[in-house]
Amino acid sequence: MQLSPTLAGRVNQIREYRNMTVKDLAKACRMQTGRIEDIEAGLETWLSTTDRQILARALRIEAYVLKEAEYEPAHPELSDPPPELLHELAENILHGVRELICPRCKKAALKCSVQEGFDIEGARIHYARAFCDNCPFVLK
Ligand SMILES: [Zn+2]
Repeated sequence: MQLSPTLAGRVNQIREYRNMTVKDLAKACRMQTGRIEDIEAGLETWLSTTDRQILARALRIEAYVLKEAEYEPAHPELSDPPPELLHELAENILHGVRELICPRCKKAALKCSVQEGFDIEGARIHYARAFCDNCPFVLK
């Protein structure tokens, strides 16, 4: 069998070779079917070590078969966003905007919240918190 060069293609190919449906594979991995669909659609191009092992085990292949097809984009934009952007982000959150995309990976919606605290003079202040599910970005 000629293996597909992409993770998406390879997972799809091996899953079908094993006679598994997306649902079967999701169940074997204890993942949502949508997650498997995302991987097969090429939305996820690389996996965490744990996910890779789980997926490889469910597909009954060695983890490297998946790893060698993974593509982890090396992006300079994954460095921390500039302070102006963080400031703007915080302002948006404080104004109740919640549909914000992570400024670091630009892939996931941020989980935002407004917290209450006190400044050094004891005055009540509100500050924005946000974190990303997809990358280590945290606004604090
Ligand atoms: Zn992110």
